[in-house]
Amino acid sequence: MSSEQAQETKLVGGAPCLDFTNTLSWRGRDAPEEALHDYRDLIEWSRRSGVLDEAETERLRNQAALSPRHADAVYIRSIELREALYRIFNTAYEDAEPAEADLKTLNQILSEALSHKTLSKTGGAYTMQYDSEPPEYVLWKLADSAYELLTSMDLQRVKRCASDECSWLFLDLSRNRSRRWCSMESCGNRMKAKRHYHRTRDESK
Ligand SMILES: [Zn+2]
Repeated sequence: MSSEQAQETKLVGGAPCLDFTNTLSWRGRDAPEEALHDYRDLIEWSRRSGVLDEAETERLRNQAALSPRHADAVYIRSIELREALYRIFNTAYEDAEPAEADLKTLNQILSEALSHKTLSKTGGAYTMQYDSEPPEYVLWKLADSAYELLTSMDLQRVKRCASDECSWLFLDLSRNRSRRWCSMESCGNRMKAKRHYHRTRDESK
């Protein structure tokens, strides 16, 4: 893995659902970079980003080995979900309306997820828990994260990196809401260097 790629897989979104949309890098370039190539990548990334815990990851990994076709189908759906989420959160940033088709994609997974949730009382408190963990479980967890952000006040803090090439999404949790870059070390510095390059070039003319 090149150092540039390692930088790109950083978790800078501030919410799992935004980090998930950032698994496609350089959306503004002719050839964006895909971090998720199959179901295995999807669950490994989900473990690393905290969407799944170790035990869940292990169980899903084993299931995928037993039913690879099922896992492949879930992987394809995960990319559909990711792209729908990117467009939905991008409309939040642009103060625009989401496409019906994108909401439908998310709603289908949310209702599927809900049909597998059971309310129970454990240790004196009621909690909602999933009654099973099929390969789709990872989609449900990602959709849950999106639902939480879409219905929270933090939705107003969703921003898109000021580098058009990058276009990663993130939560701007700075007090004065001044964050412009997905990360200062990568895009922030690159854009500064670019500006400096153009300035010095123009001055030398
Ligand atoms: Zn960026």
